[in-house]
Amino acid sequence: MVKEADVPSTTHTSSSKKQGKTEKPFVGNLALKCPKCKEMLVGRDWEKNLKVCSRCSYHFKLSAYERIELLTDSDSFVELDSDIISVDPLNFVVRSQAYADKLREERENVNLNEGVVTGYATIEEMPLALAVMDFRFIGGSMGSAVGEKITRAIELGIKENIPVLISSTSGGARMQEGLYSLMQMAKTSAALAKLAEARLPYFSLLTDPTTGGVTA
Ligand SMILES: [Zn+2]
Repeated sequence: MVKEADVPSTTHTSSSKKQGKTEKPFVGNLALKCPKCKEMLVGRDWEKNLKVCSRCSYHFKLSAYERIELLTDSDSFVELDSDIISVDPLNFVVRSQAYADKLREERENVNLNEGVVTGYATIEEMPLALAVMDFRFIGGSMGSAVGEKITRAIELGIKENIPVLISSTSGGARMQEGLYSLMQMAKTSAALAKLAEARLPYFSLLTDPTTGGVTA
């Protein structure tokens, strides 16, 4: 694989320190507005209600770590491959911003290295490999690093003889990486076919919002 590069050790250590912590943008008595019914919600009640609007039951988007925390046994999740990041194979520039700069900016804003968090954990003490996408990182789009991480999670399932769960939330392929991005679909599909051959269960969890394409 030529597309993935390791994060330089300096940036890696600083970002891995930040990672793993659940972001808490609204705490205590801070108010926020429900995008659906426009009701003002108190941050504390809203968190207690698992980020669901108490008036109209609107479900707010969850970050990858929040979803992992909800899904798996507490403290059972071990993150893998968090150092895999995308490069800019096309020197892509959009609205006078280079894709490489955009990636750097997203990594800082979202506190994630890429749009998916992968690893293994247990649910009700049953082990499984999982890949959980995060919509905040360039719309959860499927770039080469996302595809590589998902593929590795599936391969881990095959190697360890455990089920695989993929929680998708994505706007589609990451156009900034062109064909490298489209290629990821073939790669992940091939890995899933191998998983099926090994007669291991695959769970696809579709979360808000998942558009076509990457869903496959
Ligand atoms: Zn509401």
